[in-house]
Amino acid sequence: MATVAFIGLGNMGGPMATNLVKAGHQVTVFDLSAAACEQLRAAGAAVAESALAAATGAEYVLSMLPAGKHVAATYLGEDGLLARLDPSTTVLDCSTIDAATARRVGEAASALGIGFMDTPVSGGVAAAAAGTLAFMCGGSAATFDKARLILADMGKNIFHAGPAGAGQVAKGCNNMLLAIHMIGTCEALEMGARNGLDPAVLSEIMLASSGRNWSLEVYNPYPGVMPNAPASNAYKPGFMVDLMVKDLGLALEIAEQSDFDNPMGQLAQALYSQHQQAGNGQLDFSSILRKLQGAAGQS
Ligand code: NAD
Repeated sequence: MATVAFIGLGNMGGPMATNLVKAGHQVTVFDLSAAACEQLRAAGAAVAESALAAATGAEYVLSMLPAGKHVAATYLGEDGLLARLDPSTTVLDCSTIDAATARRVGEAASALGIGFMDTPVSGGVAAAAAGTLAFMCGGSAATFDKARLILADMGKNIFHAGPAGAGQVAKGCNNMLLAIHMIGTCEALEMGARNGLDPAVLSEIMLASSGRNWSLEVYNPYPGVMPNAPASNAYKPGFMVDLMVKDLGLALEIAEQSDFDNPMGQLAQALYSQHQQAGNGQLDFSSILRKLQGAAGQS
């Protein structure tokens, strides 16, 4: 069992840190929110006064923070954690952030002899609580070997994508594709429905045909087709439109920085942004069906 510092105890970080406690690790946590810290104290973690106090002496430092600026502020610069940590520490940032910041933190860690990986996750709050997240890791092979010992207590699929930043690139590629096939699935189902087909029957047909995809198979966006999907529960998330817009923004940054034109990703980002601006940010991302229905004059 290891000594672990966990920084950022929100919707995702809270249950992830709880799973590390349950697995028997000695976990010390820090979050700007006292309430979030108290929840982890109740779950059996120690609470520190600062990120530095949590991280000092830990074998692993994990973070689950909102965006790149929070990660940079936590790790970089004279007051950042990297400058204070023992080189034997393994640092795993599970946040979804821009690949450029992940590379920057990776380079700074490497210059100090500290093992760093960006380890963003696929799977939402339910997967975080169930310990079934997928981790996409960017960093050295040696750090990956250490990382998987801890990540295995929070997830079930752990991939080594490449060097620092590669985890964020993999996540950007995946979520861009997710947005695109969700929109495509909504379009196909709505077109069928407007031509008299039952969306449940059409779904069965496409699931047995070449249109089969994850959105159709486990997350059907048409209300009533799949009782447990957000679509059948008034689009209660699930995975919020706000987070999809954030992830598509990161994917577009990756494309831009690699001088790559991604028309489908750009269109998905435009559609999700419009949907968000119309007040749907807190709905599940499969609610993009409503936008398509409205755009064609129906709701
Ligand atoms: P959240 O807003 O619920 O939690 C973020 C936590 O970080 C908050 O408790 C906040 O107080 C804390 N925090 C912010 N700055 C801090 C600092 N400097 N020091 C210590 N604590 C600080 O967000 P979340 O939903 O848990 O998401 C966290 C990350 O996981 C994001 O990068 C998000 O994109 C990613 N993610 C979220 C989901 C999801 O479904 N929620 C799924 C996959 C990935």
